[in-house]
Amino acid sequence: MAKRILIDLSRYRSGIDNNQSPAEAVFYPEANLNGLKTIRELAVFQFTCRKCEDAPCINVCPSEALEKDLDGLIHRFTNLCISCKSCVTICPFGTMMTDFFIHKINKDLYFDLTDDHELNEFIKACPAGVVTMVDMDENPEENIYKLNDRVLIKENIWNTDKQ
Ligand code: SF4
Ligand code: SF4
Repeated sequence: MAKRILIDLSRYRSGIDNNQSPAEAVFYPEANLNGLKTIRELAVFQFTCRKCEDAPCINVCPSEALEKDLDGLIHRFTNLCISCKSCVTICPFGTMMTDFFIHKINKDLYFDLTDDHELNEFIKACPAGVVTMVDMDENPEENIYKLNDRVLIKENIWNTDKQ
């Protein structure tokens, strides 16, 4: 099995908010067409967002920077977003938080998780226990879900099969 990391999403986001976890993980070169997307943002929209039917975050955005795809996933166009944080204020579930808008200028703090060395460096750069190397598959019973082949996310999502 390929090496995988498990990110405790709540603790990781909390660390960024408190400026204790400056490391940011991305996948190069498959950054999407909307700008470089962090693992954190992809995971938050996939697992934390409640996919509101009439999404208030989209309605409030003055820049048309948020869009919902056919699967109900929200995407933020980073080239349109002006970091006004109106979506943070209006999101009733705390999905959109200020950690989305902390921009790292030190490229040394970005780690490409397609590279084994950088993946290990990312783990070391995060607070102890927040990101760990694991040898397992996703396990919804333990709130562990697969983001992609190299990343598992631990998050209490709202609509698991067990509910
Ligand atoms: S912070 Fe960005 S995505 Fe959120 S409402 Fe403002 S422009 Fe839109
Ligand atoms: S308001 Fe919050 S929970 Fe609802 S769709 Fe937008 S980001 Fe997701």
